[in-house]
Amino acid sequence: MVRTFELTKNGTSETDVIDLTEDVQDAVSKSEIANGIVTVFVPGSTAAVTTIEYERGVLKDLVLALERIVPRGEKYYHDSAWGDGNGYAHVRSALVGPSCSVPVKNGKLLLGTWQQIVLLDFDNRPRNRKVILQIIGDTR
Ligand code: ZN
Repeated sequence: MVRTFELTKNGTSETDVIDLTEDVQDAVSKSEIANGIVTVFVPGSTAAVTTIEYERGVLKDLVLALERIVPRGEKYYHDSAWGDGNGYAHVRSALVGPSCSVPVKNGKLLLGTWQQIVLLDFDNRPRNRKVILQIIGDTR
């Protein structure tokens, strides 16, 4: 069985880290799929999906690490080609990746205790983000 759900999340003009764990677990529960896998995917090339411990310190560490690896103030060829000033956001998005998959057993996400699913929105303008959840598996 395959069930597909859609979430909507609002980003700001800064790098946002949005916890999706509860929404994903809710969708799994609604899907009535007991055993299988859920894919969390963000359509768009200036956002990403990963997992992290949703704790203030490490969230800041992640944002700062991305700022060191792909600084917002650098020159990006994308910006001269397109003029939208979000070259850094496209590069960060490509490095982190657009999706993550989590196994589901007995209707529960098999995440670690300190592991949450997060949406990263890097864009330099507030965005309305769609997130696709696709759950594949058996109902028992
Ligand atoms: Zn762009």
